[in-house]
This record gives sequence, structure tokens and C-alpha cells, in this order.
Amino acid sequence: MFIQNIFRLILVGLVITWLFAETAVAFTVSSDFPGGSAELRELNAAEGYLEIAPAYHDQRGWPCWWYFRVDGAQRGQQLTVRITPSTQSFREGRRLGAAWSLPQRAAISTDDVHWQQTEPGEIDRRGGTYTITAPASRFWMAWGPPFLPSHADDLLEAVAADLPAAERFELATTRQGRAVTAIRCGTPGAPHVVWVQARQHAWEAGSSWVGRGFLEWVASDAPEAVRLRAHSEIVFIPIMDVDNVALGAGGKEAVPRDHNRDWAEQPHYPEVAAAQRRIGELAEAGRLRVFLDLHNPGANSKQPFYFGPYKDEPMSAQGRRNYQRFLTLSVATMTEPLAMERAYQYASYIKTAEERGRMSRNWVADHSDDDVVALTLETAWNTPHSTTQGYMHVGRGLAQTVARYLATVEETSEEAGSGK
Ligand SMILES: [Zn+2]
Repeated sequence: MFIQNIFRLILVGLVITWLFAETAVAFTVSSDFPGGSAELRELNAAEGYLEIAPAYHDQRGWPCWWYFRVDGAQRGQQLTVRITPSTQSFREGRRLGAAWSLPQRAAISTDDVHWQQTEPGEIDRRGGTYTITAPASRFWMAWGPPFLPSHADDLLEAVAADLPAAERFELATTRQGRAVTAIRCGTPGAPHVVWVQARQHAWEAGSSWVGRGFLEWVASDAPEAVRLRAHSEIVFIPIMDVDNVALGAGGKEAVPRDHNRDWAEQPHYPEVAAAQRRIGELAEAGRLRVFLDLHNPGANSKQPFYFGPYKDEPMSAQGRRNYQRFLTLSVATMTEPLAMERAYQYASYIKTAEERGRMSRNWVADHSDDDVVALTLETAWNTPHSTTQGYMHVGRGLAQTVARYLATVEETSEEAGSGK
């Protein structure tokens, strides 16, 4: 009897040890999926600790984007997730500041579809530590809510199904053979054309969510949206740098240059060349009215803002009035949850005229009539409102602004036509 009890105890002990060991080793991290990015630095399942850095991709720009999946965690288990900046140089002798990789709140999801923010992490110059409660045995974490080529396809398909007049098209095939998908909606051949593109910088996922909010409002039943579609044509590209988005690379300052420094005579990227050609034709025909390039700014920006025309940019009085009216309407319309800054900013950190000329906003301004409004929208990513819903809200406001702006353009030209 005594011997039997001893055996039982030993058996129970073995089972407990085995169970504990299973729990300890079962928790894994992976990033081998589209847009995934994580270099595993440390994983201590027993202590619920994992440490990663954004994956490094040689010549693919800033290593700031991270996105990974955890499998085998225990639901409700407290985990410490430490993100440390990449130590690799993205260009010779240049390392990226830590802040670009370290949102105050990271994004977390149990289905890779719906994203929430974590509680604020402890962020310093060496890294960020996020204490989380595992929401499920499998979950995803990312720098911000991911927006991948599959999201772009789903969005364009849904809008095309809603709007029979809309036309999906392929802007270009990337250097690595991926499709850059786009949509044209509104009235084909209408006198006003609006061109909106996102993600020339792959890590700036929030800009595609802003774009989604923009497009969904344009496609909606709101009377102003219906009117906008009746009087204009809207071209939208959810992701320009598809290759780096799919790879999970940052894209910004890629070698030889990134998309928003590629608007040259001889672009490196087919999608930039294709956009230039189409925009050039629209400008030539006198139909382009508004060009918007969607981005996310630095970690310290807490409100969306535009990079506008330079102070020394040659411009007619009409051009100035148009930029001013667009800004006034933006400030009045885009009030929440992230309110627009009340003044234009200038990309004064670009020192040479040659480099300025290779930025899309400036290229469009240089290659179109000066009554065209060409702007870069920078939407803050490091705030409690930098969520899918918050970004889409900004995009909705942007679309309403465009609709209101074009309505005033029509009134102005009617007045001019009637000789007032
Ligand atoms: Zn950017």
C-alpha cells in the first residue's frame, strides 16, 4: 500500500512536470506571413517574456515596422513584450532613431482582422516594454494595425460591388511582379478629377486606413458623396509600395531611393512611372483638381497636418486662394477624433531643389496648372486615436473636405462664367 502510494505520488509529479514543461515550450513567435516582421531576440516562455526587433531587410529602407504572431500562449497569462530597435544600418553609417519603432500603444488582435491598442508601454531610447494579458492562445501584435495587399483587394472589391460605375484597374506591376491595384469611381470623363494615393512608404500602414475611410465615404449614400460622384472622377490607390508592404520592410529611404523621392524623369519604380503618366494626362487635359498623397509622420506629431506648397513656390492668386480654401475647409471638417492642424507645414528638411522636385506632391505641382491643390497628408500614428476607426474617421473627413472644396470650385467657375 505504502509502495503503491509512493508510485502514485511519483506519477502525479511526473505529470505535473510534463504539463509545466509543455506550457513552457509551447509558446512560439512567428512572422512568416505577408507583411510579417520580427527578429526574435529572446523568448523565455517560463517567464512569459519575449523580445523582438523589427526585421532587417538590406536596402529596403527604415527597419521600423514589426508584426508577429504568438502561438501557444495561455489565455489570461501576463506577458512582457519587449521591442528593441534594429541595430542595423539602413544606409551606410545611418541607423534609425528608436522612436520610429516604438508606438506608445502597440496594436493587438486575436483574429488578425480586428485590432485594438495595448495599454501604454514603457518607452525609452533603448526600447519599449508592453505588459499585456494574452487575449487568446494565438494572437497577433504589430507596430500599428496592418494594411496589406489583401486588405486593398477586399476594399476595392467591396466598393466595386457597391458602385456599378466604378472600375478597378492595375496601375502597374511592381519590380517584383506584384499588382498595384487601384480604383476609379464617380463619373468617367467628368470635368474634375481627384487623385488619392497611400503608402509610398510601406511602414506607414495608418495612411492606407485613412485611404479606406476616404474611399468608403466617397462610395457611400451620403448626399454630398452622391453629388461628388456625379460631378467628378476619383482615382484611389491604397498601396503604392506593394513590394515592401508584402515583405514587411519599411521602404522609407530604400536604396536607390524610396517611392516619394522617385518622381524623377526616369523613375525606378513602375508604379511611380505609371502614376506620373496618368496624372500628366489628367493635368494636360485640365481635369486634375486635387492630388493627395497619404503618409504618417514622426512619433511626436499628435495631429494630422498637410505638407503644402513652399512659401517661394510660384503661384497665381487663384492658386493661393484654392490652397487657402482647401485648408480652411479641412480645419472646419476634420475636427475629430484627430483635429487637423490649422496651418500648412513645409518640407523644409529637404535641402535641395532637385530632391524637392522628386517628391510626388511637388512633382504634381510642377506638372499641372497652379489652380490644382496638391498636398501630402500626414496623419498622426502615435495617439490613442491612431486606430483603424480613428484613421478611417480622418479619411472620411478628408473626403468630405474634397466634396465641399469641389462644390465651391463649381460655384466659383459658374460665377466667373456669368461675368460676376
Ligand atoms: Zn511617408
